[in-house]
Amino acid sequence: MATPPQALCGVAGSDGEGVMDFLGRRIGRRVLQLGQRFGDSVRQALPGYCAFCLTPVGGSQPWCASCYAALPWNRHACRRCGEPMPASTVTAVDCGRCLKSPPAFDASLVPLRYESHLTQLIHRFKFSADPRAGEILVRLLASAYHFEASSSFGMSFNEAPRVASPVIVGVPGQRARTRERGFDHVGWLTQRLAGRLQLPVCHAIRQRETPTQRGLDRRERQRNVKAAFVMEQELPNVVVVLDDVMTTGATLHSLAVACHSAGAKRVVGVACARTPSGRI
Ligand SMILES: [Zn+2]
Ligand SMILES: [Zn+2]
Repeated sequence: MATPPQALCGVAGSDGEGVMDFLGRRIGRRVLQLGQRFGDSVRQALPGYCAFCLTPVGGSQPWCASCYAALPWNRHACRRCGEPMPASTVTAVDCGRCLKSPPAFDASLVPLRYESHLTQLIHRFKFSADPRAGEILVRLLASAYHFEASSSFGMSFNEAPRVASPVIVGVPGQRARTRERGFDHVGWLTQRLAGRLQLPVCHAIRQRETPTQRGLDRRERQRNVKAAFVMEQELPNVVVVLDDVMTTGATLHSLAVACHSAGAKRVVGVACARTPSGRI
């Protein structure tokens, strides 16, 4: 006589459920996992579609020409701190704040302003761990870097050869926040950008956990991250320090101080986007 389904209950499930329930739950979980994996790969790949408006695009770029042109480019900015300046400003000048009290980094490359599409893109990357958003940020940074490096970051001709082999140092993550997000977003950006630009990475050590910079004014931010970093090793002449967003530049300033102490002669601050000072 066939064993009634009921008899298998205790074998399959942990608390007396039926085999079909048990299998159903397992299959459901598997389908969910596959669905998540499929969703992830679609998000990562999605070749041929603009990441912003989803219209089909040709070539390998993940954006269409009109969305790319509509990004909030930080074209008129302080040469040193990347602070957005009026469109009438002559390029390659320092802002009044930098003339009075320059940061420890000598130049900056912050191609976009932290607003509109860029804010959404950075949030998708940072808070939802969306790898496609991260890849787009890396590609935007890499193309801006190639463009800027061709002018040697505003250096004179004699200094230019030193730029040939910079190293990249990312702002080291906070342990608690990295755990909360599930990944070190600046570490991820640093590795990807270094890979794309074929530059070596050097690591900084965070000497202490610092409270969030959110809600702090310019002076409080500087105090908050003062002497927060130290380098693991001696550095070459030219160093790129990297963060996702530059707000006042206090974090990159503090990291640049550590880089200079480790032997760097010239430090370039790089970030995806700059927060206009009116919003700080
Ligand atoms: Zn588009
Ligand atoms: Zn400035």
